[in-house]
Amino acid sequence: MPHTRDIARRNQSAAFSIIPILLLTLIVIGSMSFLARSAFDTNEQNAINLEKRRIELALDDESREFAESLRREIEVSRSGTSHAEIDLAELAEMISLTHKLDFVGIFERSGKAVVINASRKETIDRRIAAAEALLAERRELKTDFAVRRLGMSRTLLDPDAVIAMAAVRIGDTHELVASIRLGEPILARIGANLLLSNLRFQSEDIVEGKAGESTDASVAWNRISDGSFTLESLASIGLLGMAVIGIYGLLVFLHIRRVTRELEHNEAQAKHMAGHDALSGLPNRILFSKRLDNELSRITREGGGLSVMYLDLDKFKEVNDLHGHGAGDKLITMVSRRLGDLLRGADTVARFGGDEFAIIQVGVRSISDTEALAQRILDELRRTFRIDDAEVSIGVSIGISVAPENGHDGPTLMRFADVALYRAKNEGRNRYSFFEQEMNEALKIKKLVEDDLRTAIENNELMLHYQPLVTADGTHIVGMEALVRWNHPTRGLIPPVQFIGIAEERGLITPLGEWVLRQACLDGNRWPGLTVAVNVSPVQFRQPDFVQNVGRILAETGFDPNRLELELTEGVVVEDADTAEVAIIELRAMGVRLALDDFGVGYSSLIYLRRFAFDKIKIDKSFLESMEASGESAILLHSIVHLGRALGLDVTAEGVETEDQRRFLQAVGCHHLQGYYFSRPCPADDMDILVARVNKGRTRAAA
Ligand code: C2E
Ligand code: CA
Ligand code: CA
Repeated sequence: MPHTRDIARRNQSAAFSIIPILLLTLIVIGSMSFLARSAFDTNEQNAINLEKRRIELALDDESREFAESLRREIEVSRSGTSHAEIDLAELAEMISLTHKLDFVGIFERSGKAVVINASRKETIDRRIAAAEALLAERRELKTDFAVRRLGMSRTLLDPDAVIAMAAVRIGDTHELVASIRLGEPILARIGANLLLSNLRFQSEDIVEGKAGESTDASVAWNRISDGSFTLESLASIGLLGMAVIGIYGLLVFLHIRRVTRELEHNEAQAKHMAGHDALSGLPNRILFSKRLDNELSRITREGGGLSVMYLDLDKFKEVNDLHGHGAGDKLITMVSRRLGDLLRGADTVARFGGDEFAIIQVGVRSISDTEALAQRILDELRRTFRIDDAEVSIGVSIGISVAPENGHDGPTLMRFADVALYRAKNEGRNRYSFFEQEMNEALKIKKLVEDDLRTAIENNELMLHYQPLVTADGTHIVGMEALVRWNHPTRGLIPPVQFIGIAEERGLITPLGEWVLRQACLDGNRWPGLTVAVNVSPVQFRQPDFVQNVGRILAETGFDPNRLELELTEGVVVEDADTAEVAIIELRAMGVRLALDDFGVGYSSLIYLRRFAFDKIKIDKSFLESMEASGESAILLHSIVHLGRALGLDVTAEGVETEDQRRFLQAVGCHHLQGYYFSRPCPADDMDILVARVNKGRTRAAA
């Protein structure tokens, strides 16, 4: 009997000691799992907020463009009529119609003439109040127009809200205020620009131009991968697994939160740098190109002409050397101001970096309009500049191309203006020169390339050069990049930039690319243990049998797929993301590595990095080029390396030309480097020697 009681007591106490442990375990598991789940949710939310911020920023651009288009329109309608004749109500009506605006008001000193499409009274009152505030702001600024984006969060929620208001001055007494509403087309355009798939309103009722009824709406887009894993799906793994995941989730949460914050910071920085030059505050090349495209499509629609001017200051370097970089910076700012004062409001002046500027002159009726402006610029920049206590005189050379005579697209006009600038400088500077067809040697080369490229492959005129990729300390070669050259019988060595584009246009890129790949694999067998990188054109990559051909060439040449690295550019993934994704997965399954080339120039989207399984990013050499000029580039480069590393990617920087650059890149954490500092691209035979010399120590150590 006592014996039985003993056992019962023992059992009881055992049960009592197990229950708290069990409970504790459950609590730990429960809270860990909860944390993991909320870590994931927070990360998702951060990502969504980031996208929303980007939509807002894009709307800013929309607003600015809208205001500028209004202003141009008024300028045009005024240029025909004498000021007194403008019927203000008619003007308001017309503008309201052509832009599908829901609020246009013209405010005279004496009173108000308001044309309104919105029917709800609160809306109208709100608009009038906003219009008056905007006018006050414009007067304060003393500019010809002012733009304001109104309450973004409200805009996203309330279709009656305004996305932008523009106040434009008409003569001395009238001011026009207009507002544009966020509609599907604008949203779709922004979605396309930001690569947000199917960006849309969530409510169907909101159609542009339909005023009056208010419906709550918000925007939505298709997340590329919602990545949602739920706790249910983990249940089967068992309690221990969940606890581990809980802890892991917490760590991931902390890590992701840090990375996300960095990303937000980078995005904001990149966004500002994307449009403007830091020193002068002028638009940069990117914004310039965008405006040029807009102006060109406008003259295609409406007729008229424009000119593109490239400016290069004469003797700027002397000022820098003689008076220091501080003086150089001041000079740039003063030049920017003088140029700005010479131009009319609708013209654009941009700074391309260094002492290079560019101008879009719009409303050009004849060549003499452009000549007059060029002459004024020469005169104005010849006047001495007072910098601190010194009198400085410089000059300027100007190259000009004109549309539609010289071309219809931005890149062509910019290239031609550059060609003309070269001539202006060669002919003794301080002058302007118009582009003429026969100047353009490059055009002739293009023609020749077009004629001869087809036979170049058959005639064995293509060859590969190789450039080593080295460890960040510069001591070992880890691989090489194959770079194609064309050894033309009469022209000599032609660089790839002069024929790859044409090969793409002419449908020759596939045979060319296959030749490169096969040759690189054959050569690659000479360098055991090293990777061989091959550039793949987007056009080539999009061929349906691309992956199959890579497999075939690997088999035929016996080259180890693990040593092959294909370099793709963002163009590949932007155009047709779904097909690209399939191809990338198949290539990786074969063991081939993939690098995202020229990272940092295109949109450099984080989305690609998240979605596509790249092994490596190659930071474009333009970063190093601009780093000398601006500290911001260095910061950005730092962040990119950090980001790449955080995502577990191999980070390579290209275009390394000096020991200083190497040291910087090593310090910020690049894994591998490439550039003239280590070696220029050279034939395979030279590469044999280089590899043997540089990697000798390592091979011996390994043996
Ligand atoms: P990429 O892929 O960005 O290749 C790097 C380019 O930078 C090469 O120009 C290389 O010579 C140059 N480079 C290397 N180190 C330095 C440096 O320290 N400073 C400077 N300023 N430049 C440096 P390359 O050989 O003229 O090739 C130009 C572009 O042509 C390549 O740019 C690539 O996009 C394309 N390309 C070259 N070979 C092929 C090919 O076989 N197929 C395809 N589709 N494209 C190719
Ligand atoms: Ca490359
Ligand atoms: Ca590159």
